[in-house]
Amino acid sequence: MSFPSIEIVCEKCGGRINRIINVKSLKDVLRPFSGRCNTCGVSLNPSDFELHMEKA
Ligand SMILES: [Zn+2]
Repeated sequence: MSFPSIEIVCEKCGGRINRIINVKSLKDVLRPFSGRCNTCGVSLNPSDFELHMEKA
C-alpha cells in the first residue's frame, strides 16, 4: 500500500517544516510547533505554505 506524503516547506527560508503521511488539516500539522517555522521562526499561515505532494 502507498500513501501520499506531504512536505511542508517554509517559503521564507526553505526549511522543511514537517512531513506528514496522511492528508489532514494543516492546523493539526502546525499545532505542535505553534505555527512557526522551526528553522527561521517566522509565523506561518496555511495559505503561505508551499506543499509538495509526493506519492510514496
Ligand atoms: Zn523558515
